Amino acid sequence: MTGKENKKIDDLKKSLFYKRSVGWKKTKRSDYKKVFDFADSYKKFLNSVRTERETVSYFQNEAHKQGYENKRSGLMLINNRGKNLMLVKKGKQPITDGVRIIASHVDCPRIDLKQIPMYEEDNLLFFHTHYYGGIKKYQWANIPLEMRGIIIDKDGNTIQVKLGKDEGMTFVVPDLCPHLSHKIQDDKKSGEIITGENLSLLAGSIPETDDDGKDMVKLHLLKLLNEKYHITENDFITSELEIVPAMEVLDLGIDRSMIAGYGQDDRICAFASCKALFESETPLYTTVVLLADKEEIGSDGATGMSSLFLIKGIYEAAQEFGTPVDEAGMLELLSKSGAISADVNGALNPLYKSVYEKDNASFLGSGIVMTKFTGHGGKYMANDADAEWVSHIRTIFDKAGIVWQTGELGKVDEGGGGTVAKFLAKYGMNVIDAGPALISMHSPYEISSKIDLYESYRAYKQFIEKG
Ligand code: MN
Ligand code: MN
Repeated sequence: MTGKENKKIDDLKKSLFYKRSVGWKKTKRSDYKKVFDFADSYKKFLNSVRTERETVSYFQNEAHKQGYENKRSGLMLINNRGKNLMLVKKGKQPITDGVRIIASHVDCPRIDLKQIPMYEEDNLLFFHTHYYGGIKKYQWANIPLEMRGIIIDKDGNTIQVKLGKDEGMTFVVPDLCPHLSHKIQDDKKSGEIITGENLSLLAGSIPETDDDGKDMVKLHLLKLLNEKYHITENDFITSELEIVPAMEVLDLGIDRSMIAGYGQDDRICAFASCKALFESETPLYTTVVLLADKEEIGSDGATGMSSLFLIKGIYEAAQEFGTPVDEAGMLELLSKSGAISADVNGALNPLYKSVYEKDNASFLGSGIVMTKFTGHGGKYMANDADAEWVSHIRTIFDKAGIVWQTGELGKVDEGGGGTVAKFLAKYGMNVIDAGPALISMHSPYEISSKIDLYESYRAYKQFIEKG
């Protein structure tokens, strides 16, 4: 072929083929500073929160600064038990035309303490734990961990617990050394290398007295806890103590293009959507930004997406904004509504290509991922977004020049996962999943791309404003 013919073929391909964008190439170099500055504020946030309660209180404070709770100005804030937050911004259209929702989740995979946690073995004090969400247990051994959460004492006082890096202290789940692991670990499946019961936390070793006696280290530790928090062993029964990674959130790479840190599934979407809401102009439709809890364990529970908290909040918003609705009106409003389930996707990890189908995988650095459906196998347990809604979102993104990609999680038969999308869809509204892709998702140290974070923020802002 001649050079001219080659060019014609290239042009034809360019106009007819789907091509996944590389965010860094699509973004003007002069805009990189904005991307990096945004990532800095995200890192600061991510470093300051480690639990769903801390995340909700962080965004509640931020929202207060923005005037949320001043219902007359069309800004509403509802806090559900400190673990689930709803922010509402009044739109130009009446609320009866439907709302727009961006729902993310602020709970993350972690390890919880059991209710009777302390036990002593061979002069070492351990805490029993019960893991929360889908973790690869072996990843949680031999890394610095912190204890965060609350204890309610017998008088009903809530005690905030934060034991970790700030106090120059850590906890570790000790693993077996390689010299001795041949028989009981090395040939096992990864989920069995460390059992749930062996995911125990080392927490002390000094006995209360020099006398021989049972549980003397435990006694000493309880004495220390009693001095510090005025609690007894019974009070652990009324506690929620989470064991979370203590590692600092850092820039990843010599070019600092990525972020490594715990809790990015799904606090990256919580951050991007809250920022987008705070910085948005008056939205077309009344917009709800929801931070849900319990997503990692199936969204059940009063603070999870399957509770009616969202519905109650929208009902209240309709009243506060001067267009109260009855039950039938509420169902009508919901069916006219549309949502983005803002959650992360699992980016292709080039070290393990075999589990992905490249054409439909999501890639780190290729912008926000639109996931038409989640679920597993034959799309079981999935919200499969209508093509019409996908088109609606695509048009909004394209008009604003958002870098976006489409992606599903792994090969068809490889595995899968779910999000809050289907819990929103049950009210008869349009829903699609959209959020950045992560490498090492659900690990104690997840990886995101700064450009994906920024494009997700821009995408959510467009959705809020143009809906
Ligand atoms: Mn998630
Ligand atoms: Mn998850």
